[in-house]
Amino acid sequence: MPYAQHISELVGDTPLVRLTSVASGLAATVLAKVEYVNPGGSVKDRIALKMVEAAEASGELRPGGTIVEPTSGNTGVGLALVGQRKGYRCVFVCPDKVSQDKRDVLRAYGAEVVVTPTAVPPDHPESYYSVSDRLAREIPGAWKPNQYANPNGPASHYESTGPEIWRDTEGTVTHLVAGVGTGGTITGTGRYLKDVSADRDAAAGGRVRVVGADPAGSVYSGGDGRPYLVEGVGEDFWPAAYDPSVPDEVIAVTDAESFDMTRRLAREEGLLVGGSCGMAVVAALRLAERIEREDAAAAARAVIVVILPDGGRGYLSKIFSDAWMQRHGFLGEPTDGPLVADVV
Ligand code: PMP
Repeated sequence: MPYAQHISELVGDTPLVRLTSVASGLAATVLAKVEYVNPGGSVKDRIALKMVEAAEASGELRPGGTIVEPTSGNTGVGLALVGQRKGYRCVFVCPDKVSQDKRDVLRAYGAEVVVTPTAVPPDHPESYYSVSDRLAREIPGAWKPNQYANPNGPASHYESTGPEIWRDTEGTVTHLVAGVGTGGTITGTGRYLKDVSADRDAAAGGRVRVVGADPAGSVYSGGDGRPYLVEGVGEDFWPAAYDPSVPDEVIAVTDAESFDMTRRLAREEGLLVGGSCGMAVVAALRLAERIEREDAAAAARAVIVVILPDGGRGYLSKIFSDAWMQRHGFLGEPTDGPLVADVV
């Protein structure tokens, strides 16, 4: 009778599903790796588990310790559920721009949430960064995972996400597409897939090509950190978790393209996912089109795996709200069901 002893044991082993509607007409097989089926609802459960286990092994995190991290979202949920299993207190620091809903999710898992003002510079004592550093210093037994610099983030993907993709595509994957936030996903998964396919014959697809997807304006695709609305991806600095030698290229995608595709994934593919998923799919489809233009034979055997990091429920009042989309200039006409006049 197989069952888990705790939900945190069910992290990983996420499925691949073919994108049939948004990729229709393309010769390549485009497969989405659906990370929202992880217990905490995102890809970040993977790094949470690995970072905590590694800190326990190194002695940085001891029984009864406290996990302190500046995070408002997916990483916090992953750490909260792993921490709960292992008896650690969790203290997360969020800027006040983070929605009440997101803070409530973390509290629902039993975490403590400290809210800091957004409108102060990073070196201000009340800033998100200063407060989390101070708490990590002052709380006895505190440990700060620091997902932006922790090598166990990429390592978790090297050990799990990469091998799952290789196994589930039966060694036929030719391209990996992933959004870049901390860079952990693309660095670890991409490095594994490149290593495992290093000697594969050209006729079988050659070495896996790794393609980053990035919000236009972010540093990874050559921007200067200019603001964008898609969440969880893009940066205005270069985190240590990102190895820029892994991606062969990075494709920039605008917010408008990302959000339009995010809505299409829900309506056409039954995939209610977040905005960084729409972004990654836009990059994957652009890649598929280019391969087809350049080399029809390569397109026919291309197996493009695109990572969908989280689900869409956290974005109902944003990407899936016509009013919000219109306010930000993304929608011409309302599309949320029939207008009252039509019903009458
Ligand atoms: N999408 C979302 C919604 C995320 O929360 C993250 C993590 N910041 C990413 C994509 C990118 O993943 P990574 O940090 O591994 O680059």
